[in-house]
Amino acid sequence: MSKWVYSFGDGKAEGRAEMKNLLGGKGANLAEMSNLGLPVPPGFTITTEVCTWFYDNGRQYPAELKDQVAAGLKAVEGIIGATFGDAGNPLLVSVRSGARASMPGMMDTVLNLGLNDVTVRGLAKRAGDERFAYDSYRRFIQMYGNVVLDVDHHHFEEILDSHKRDRGLNYDTDLEAGDWQTVIEGYKEVVQEALGRPFPQDVQEQLWGAIGAVFGSWMNQRAITYRKLHDIPASWGTAVNVQAMVFGNMGDDCATGVAFTRNPSTGENAFYGEYLINAQGEDVVAGIRTPQHLTVAGRQANGSDLPAMEESMPEVFQQLDAVRLKLERHYRDMQDIEFTVQQKKLYMLQTRNGKRTTAAALKIAVDMAREGLIDEAEAVRRIEPKSLDQLLHPTLDPKAERKIIAKGLPASPGAACGKVVFSADEAERQSQMGEAVILCRVETSPEDIHGMHAAAGILTTRGGMTSHAAVVARGMGRSCVSGAGELRIDYKTGVMTVRGEKIAAGDVITIDGSTGEVMLGHVPTIQPELSGDFATLMGWADRFRRMKVRTNAETPLDARTAVKFGAEGIGLCRTEHMFFDTERIIAVREMIVAETEAGRRAALAKIAPMQRQDFVELFRIMAGLPVTIRLLDPPLHEFLPNSEAEMDEVAKAAGTDIQRVRHRALQLHEANPMLGHRGCRLGISYPEIYEMQARAIFEAAVEVGKAGQTVIPEIMIPLVGTKKELDILKAVIDRVAGEVKQSSGVQIDYLVGTMIELPRAALRAAEIAQSAEFFSFGTNDLTQTTFGISRDDAASFLPDYQRAGIFEHDPFVTLDTEGVGELVSIAAERGRKTRPEIKLGICGEHGGDPASVYFCEKVGLSYVSCSPYRVPIARLAAAQAALMGEKPASEA
Ligand code: PEP
Ligand code: MG
Repeated sequence: MSKWVYSFGDGKAEGRAEMKNLLGGKGANLAEMSNLGLPVPPGFTITTEVCTWFYDNGRQYPAELKDQVAAGLKAVEGIIGATFGDAGNPLLVSVRSGARASMPGMMDTVLNLGLNDVTVRGLAKRAGDERFAYDSYRRFIQMYGNVVLDVDHHHFEEILDSHKRDRGLNYDTDLEAGDWQTVIEGYKEVVQEALGRPFPQDVQEQLWGAIGAVFGSWMNQRAITYRKLHDIPASWGTAVNVQAMVFGNMGDDCATGVAFTRNPSTGENAFYGEYLINAQGEDVVAGIRTPQHLTVAGRQANGSDLPAMEESMPEVFQQLDAVRLKLERHYRDMQDIEFTVQQKKLYMLQTRNGKRTTAAALKIAVDMAREGLIDEAEAVRRIEPKSLDQLLHPTLDPKAERKIIAKGLPASPGAACGKVVFSADEAERQSQMGEAVILCRVETSPEDIHGMHAAAGILTTRGGMTSHAAVVARGMGRSCVSGAGELRIDYKTGVMTVRGEKIAAGDVITIDGSTGEVMLGHVPTIQPELSGDFATLMGWADRFRRMKVRTNAETPLDARTAVKFGAEGIGLCRTEHMFFDTERIIAVREMIVAETEAGRRAALAKIAPMQRQDFVELFRIMAGLPVTIRLLDPPLHEFLPNSEAEMDEVAKAAGTDIQRVRHRALQLHEANPMLGHRGCRLGISYPEIYEMQARAIFEAAVEVGKAGQTVIPEIMIPLVGTKKELDILKAVIDRVAGEVKQSSGVQIDYLVGTMIELPRAALRAAEIAQSAEFFSFGTNDLTQTTFGISRDDAASFLPDYQRAGIFEHDPFVTLDTEGVGELVSIAAERGRKTRPEIKLGICGEHGGDPASVYFCEKVGLSYVSCSPYRVPIARLAAAQAALMGEKPASEA
C-alpha cells in the first residue's frame, strides 16, 4: 500500500528535511523541527505524489487517502486532546500548501478550519473568550469562502465595512462578539447567494474542500506565472499540510511573527524580524497593521517607539532566540521562520532557508565560512551565479542633488528610476515599450507579480520588510521601498500625494531600496565598488575554478569594465562593432558598396588608421592578457545604407553619384543575410578587407611592443565551414605578418584560429585543426544553424515552443546541450585529436549562462567568454562547475 500521508508532532515525525521532494519544503521542515524537539503544533503532510496523482486522474484522489488522512487526524486529536468537529472541545486545523521550492503567497491557505455554528460555541467556552471565537469563525468563513468556494473577497469586506459604518466603529478591534455574530450572518448570506447553498457546516466536507482547493491552486494562473519566472516544473506538485491551529489572537499574551535568523537585506548576524500582539499570522504578511520589531536593536535602527518583543515578552523572546541558534546550527544556513505565541507559549510554524539579497547572501556565506559552520567550497556553492547581477546594479551618486519626498523601508537594495505607474498591467505595458517604470501600489499581492517583474523598482505605501512586495522584490533583485506611509495613492485619479506635492502617473521618480528614500525626478547613479565580501568570495571561487573567463568586448569602456570584473582576456572582439561609429560608418559603407578592388582599398585606407588605434588601445588596456580579434563578420543588411540621406553621404564620400550607390545597395541586398555573404565569405571575395585588419593588428602589436608590452594577438576567422576557407585567409594573414616584420623589423608572435559556428565545421574539426591553432565556439550561430532557426526571427515563435514544452529554455540563452552541445563535444574531441594542445573556448551568449558554463566545464573547454557584466557570474559558475562535477546549485 502506498504511503500518502506523513505525521509529525510531539517530538517526532515520519518525515525528514531531506524529503522535500515528497513532503514539500514546509512539510519536510515541520517534520525536521519536530524531530529536533522544537515546539511544533502536531499535524500531517499529504505528499506531492498525491498532487501528481490528482492531476493524472481527473482530479480524483488515490483510494487509500481517505483512511490515511483520518488516521493522521486521529493522531493530532490524541496529542492535542481535542476532537475534530466536537461540540464541546473542537480541534481546529490549518490547511496550507507547501511545494518543493518556496512560492510565497502563490497558493492557497485556510485557517481555523473545523468551525461551524456549533463548534464555535465550544471554542468560545474553552478559550473563555466569545469575541475571539466569533472573530475566528468569521475569518474562517471569509478565507474558506474566498479560497475554496471562490466567492469574491470584496463581498465579505463590504459586509464588514457596512457593519462598522452602521455602528460607528473604526477598527476591527472595536468589534464585540455580538458584532462578529451579525457579520457572520451577513457572510453566510453572501455564500448562500453566491452558491445557492449554505456555508458547509460538516467539518469533513470543510477539510476535503480545503485539501482540494490547495491542490487546485497549484494550477492557478499566479502559481503558473511564478513557476515560469522561477523555472519550477509543473510536475513537482505541491504537498498539503494539515496542522493543529494555535492562536496568536487570543489576547495580549498572544502574538504572531516572522523572522530571519540573520538580516536578509544586509546579511548582518543579528536576529531580524517582526511580530504583532494579538494577531493571526496572515495579519503580519498582509501589511494591514504595521508590525513591531523583535529586538531592541531593530526597533532603534528603525526609529520605532513601539515596544520590541525583547521588551514586551522577554521570556518568550529568549526561547525564540535559542530556537534561532539551534536552527542555524542545524541547517547551517540562514532561516526564515514563522512562529506564534499562544498564551505565552511559543510554537514554531515554519522554517526554511531564507530568501536574501545577493549582498546578504555573500556576507552570510563568507561569515558562516569564517564561523566554521561551512567550508569555503560550500560558501562558493551557496551563491547563485545569476544573482550577482544584483550587485552590479547602480547605486545613487552620493554627490547628486536629490529631493526626498518620502521615506519608507529599505526593502530590496539598489537604486531605480522611472516613470510612475499605478498598476501591474500598466507596468508591463510600458516596460514592453522600453520605458523604465516604478510600480507604485498601496500594497502588492500575488496578482501583481508580472508588473513587479516588468518594473525597474517597486514602491508601496503599506507593509513591512516581510510584506509581499518586500519578499518578492528581494527574490527578483528588484529595488523596492515598502511602507512609505506618508504617500497617499489614489488609484482612481492616478495621483500620488505627499505634503501637498502631487505626483501623477508618468512623472519620473527615483527610489533607493537600500535607504528607503523616494525622490522626485531622475537622480544620477554610480557603479558599485566590488570589494569586501564580494571580493573575498570571488577570490575563493577563483581558487576552485579550472576554466579561464574572458570577455566579449571591443570598446575601451567595455574592456576596462571587464578587467575590473576579473576578465582574464578578450575572447571575442567583434571588429564590425568597431565600425558602427558615426565617423567610420560612412567609410565602411563606402567600402561595402565599392564596385572595384581599388574603390574598396580607397575606403579601407580611411578606416585603417582608426582600426590600428583601436587595437593599440585594447592591447594597452588588456596589458598582456590574451586578445582574440575576430576579422570582419558583418551581416550585410546591418551596414548597407538604407535612407536616401545615408546613400547621399556615401556617394559624396566615394566621389560617385547616389544613383550608383542605390543600384549597388540593391545588388547587395540579400534574402537571408544571416546565411549570406558574411563572415569569412566576405574575406574570400574581398581579401583586402582582412588584409587591412591583419595589418592594423600587427602594426598595433608592434607599437605597444615598443612601449615594452608583449602582445600575442589571436586572430580569428569567422563562419568557417571548410579547411580551405581557413587556409586561403590564413595565407593572407601570414603574408601581412611577413610584410609588417619587414617594414618594422619586429617579429610578432600570433595565433590564427577559427570560430566553430557551423555544423560542418564541427564535424570536420579534425581537418580544420590542422590549420587552426584555436577554436572558439560561436554558439549563437551554431544554435541558429543547427536548429535552422533564425536568430533574428526566433522571438516570434519561441514562446509557443516553450509553452508546448518543446524547449525548456530558449536555446539562444541556455545551450541546447543535447544537440548543439553534441556538436561542440564532437568538435572538441576531433580538434584535440589533431592538435592536442589546441585552445578551446566559447564566445556565444552562452558563455555567461551558468548552466551552459557547466557544460563547457564538462567538455573541458579552456575558457568561456561573455559580456563584461556577466564576467563575475561566469567566474562563479565556472567555480561551481569545477567543484561539483554536477550542475550549479542554482540550476539543479
Ligand atoms: C556566435 O555566433 O556565437 C558569435 C559569437 O558570433 P556573432 O554573435 O557575432 O555572430
Ligand atoms: Mg557568429
